[in-house]
Amino acid sequence: MKLIDEITQLIKEEAGSSKHIYLDNETKEVFFLKQSAKISQDRSFDDGVKIPKSSHKESGDVDIMRKQHVPKESLINCSNLSFEQMQNEINNCKRCGLCDSRTNTVFGEGNPKAELMFIGEGPGRDEDEQGRPFVGKSGQLLTKMINAMGYQREDVYIANIVKCRPPNNRAPLPNEAEFCLPFLLRQIEIINPKVIILLGAVPLKYLLNKTGITKIHGEWFDFNGIKTIASFHPAFLLRDPRQKKPAWEDLQKAMKVLGKSAKPLSEN
Ligand code: SF4
Repeated sequence: MKLIDEITQLIKEEAGSSKHIYLDNETKEVFFLKQSAKISQDRSFDDGVKIPKSSHKESGDVDIMRKQHVPKESLINCSNLSFEQMQNEINNCKRCGLCDSRTNTVFGEGNPKAELMFIGEGPGRDEDEQGRPFVGKSGQLLTKMINAMGYQREDVYIANIVKCRPPNNRAPLPNEAEFCLPFLLRQIEIINPKVIILLGAVPLKYLLNKTGITKIHGEWFDFNGIKTIASFHPAFLLRDPRQKKPAWEDLQKAMKVLGKSAKPLSEN
């Protein structure tokens, strides 16, 4: 049997028995929503892998692409959910493969009426263990940044693009972000902050559909009527402390909008 026929056969069988695999019969796009699938010859494809029709080959390598969009009907409608209801939904959520390896979900924390909201990419090991966002070394730096801006952690709100830890701290895949995004969008809607600060390239990509954090950090964008600015992720600042100065300048721009007076850099 040709390799692609084996894949298709396997997917059809799996799709019939699992809600976590979606096969578009026409385009032969394959969406693994929960677990990787194994086929013969020990080839496996991770979550969200798409096998484009044009790349179907009789033998040898099969080119793969990341899937960009999940079926809309698969997304949760959070429009009427409260924080508490969303928390319950998330605790039991198995919409994407990240549910398999999580210890705890990480909903987010802080003041539900915060004027300032930070959005990162997803929980790391410490966050997964504790069920809280930004509690590891990056979190300690973020807390310092928040304090330097004239706030306490509990004054602001901190959330992530995905609520479950991606394995090995990799960035969330597009389908994982898409499945999880309705929760974050509802959080933003409820909190309705004056300013959102995106921490790093991942929230920049998934919330604003933009790339190039090193070029466009510090620029203002509009996100559903909320002033939004991107800066560097604290983990990146720990790896490259030279970027702390431009990051602080980004934060100062946010402080100006929020009516907070900037301190000299040396105090931070
Ligand atoms: S990351 Fe989000 S969508 Fe995926 S299982 Fe966790 S809560 Fe559900």
